[in-house]
Amino acid sequence: MRFLQKVGVFILLLAWAIACSQEENGADAIFYNGQIYTVDANFTVAEAIVVEDETIIFVGATYDAMKFADSNTKQVDLQGKTVVPGLTDSHCHFLGIGKRAYYLNLDGSISLQDFLDRIRTEVEQKTDDDWIIGRGWIEEDWPEKKFPSSYDLDKISQTHPMLLTRADGHAIVANSKAIQLAGITHTTPDPAGGRIERDVKTGKATGIFIDNAIDLIRSIAPSDTTPDMVRKFALEAQKVSFQYGLTQLHDMGIEWPRVEILKEMYESGELKIRLQCYISDIGDNPDTLFKNGAEVGLYKNRLNIRGIKCYMDGALGSRGAALLKPYSDTGGSGLILTKENELYPLIREATEKGIQVATHAIGDRGNRLALDLYEKALQEIPADLRVNADPRHRIEHAQIVAPEDIPRFQALGIIPSMQPSHAIGDLHWAVRRLGKDRMLRGYAWRTLVDSGCILPGGSDAPVEEGNPMIEFYAATVRKDTTGFSTEDWHRDLRLSRKEALQMFTSWAAYSVFEENVRGNIEKGKLADFTVLEKDLMTCPEEELFKVGVEMTVVGGEIVYHK
Ligand SMILES: [Zn+2]
Repeated sequence: MRFLQKVGVFILLLAWAIACSQEENGADAIFYNGQIYTVDANFTVAEAIVVEDETIIFVGATYDAMKFADSNTKQVDLQGKTVVPGLTDSHCHFLGIGKRAYYLNLDGSISLQDFLDRIRTEVEQKTDDDWIIGRGWIEEDWPEKKFPSSYDLDKISQTHPMLLTRADGHAIVANSKAIQLAGITHTTPDPAGGRIERDVKTGKATGIFIDNAIDLIRSIAPSDTTPDMVRKFALEAQKVSFQYGLTQLHDMGIEWPRVEILKEMYESGELKIRLQCYISDIGDNPDTLFKNGAEVGLYKNRLNIRGIKCYMDGALGSRGAALLKPYSDTGGSGLILTKENELYPLIREATEKGIQVATHAIGDRGNRLALDLYEKALQEIPADLRVNADPRHRIEHAQIVAPEDIPRFQALGIIPSMQPSHAIGDLHWAVRRLGKDRMLRGYAWRTLVDSGCILPGGSDAPVEEGNPMIEFYAATVRKDTTGFSTEDWHRDLRLSRKEALQMFTSWAAYSVFEENVRGNIEKGKLADFTVLEKDLMTCPEEELFKVGVEMTVVGGEIVYHK
């Protein structure tokens, strides 16, 4: 009997041990039954991904993936949907995206009612008594052809202060709450150069403030630069990015005080998106980075700070891009924004100290000068004297490059970081600025890839929309979204879908030294992936920019689900 008791206890212990070991063996999550483009070296297509501790531990068939399951494993049926490695935007402005999303866009309101409906929708989405700040109304476009008033706005909310700016910036309408907070009464005088519109009978402010009177309200509204607003913009930007299927952003030009706020948000778990911060070249921002050194892999590789954003020239639209030969329409050859004797020391010190430089260069003269400065630094600081032998300096935009400069990118290891949507916007008018000859080497993705370059893709949001599907479409189709193009758009410079997918996944990862960490769906990589409604490798080209995102996964966690 005693023996049997012992056996019984032993069996119980054994069962408990097996249960425990199964618990330990079971993976955190299994995503199965998908059409998974892994973007590995052989461009393998798989069915299932197994995740443990934010990392991919298996990629393959659903049947084999299920062997990693236990009762605690989260199992997600992908329902045959297309999965790609977590999309990355290699050039954007994180807080700018948030700011655009945070403020209400009133562009194109067609009537007073439409204007008020948009404000009502915005109010319904706010959880506390936040300010409602918006921009873009034009009463001339409305059948009423008269200014909105605080009376109209008060019907929507008397607790949210409102500040809504006319499209031209010369007038605002505020509600009673904002007027009250500003301490404006019947007796408040008009400031010099400004006017408070008043009711002719009662003398009460109507809510319309013109020119210099605008500041009476604006000065009490939250400033864009307070830590509180930075936090709000960051959360909005993260939300929008996850909706677009983005798992990492390369933030081009951020100042240290804001980085410190973002660090707090990662610390508290509010931020989950992966960010690669390129520090602004303004003031002593670069010196602080040189002093601190690169900060890599913070918060489980959510935040990396290892680069500086610099400017060589301006933009093509405003004729600021620096060209080797004058503009074809107006003459002039553009602007060099940073003097060589200011920019070169930065590039040199960065090359020495293991800091990556991302230089904005758009025109062929801007690109040549940037390549020259990089080349000089790489020669003066040989690889054995660098903290990072392969600094992978980048040129942002690289829109117009002289034919003789194309091979220099690959030869010097300089990465051209490009935004396909700029092309399908600019190509409408670029031929007038540049002439037919230069169009042959404008937005020359094909030429750069053929020369051996790795080409990270971005959107430059909020300058462009920031939807990676629009970028994918622009890169592979090279028509605008109505299907328009001309012979000057040189459609032969477009990329294959396979190449475009790499631009927003594995090539993006390479451009931030992460080719061994993420960027494709492989065992050992971070579990970032994007589930799409349609197969972007096979769907008709005109559907590409409308492909929706079903699910966004960062480190194995579903951070967005449609
Ligand atoms: Zn930019």
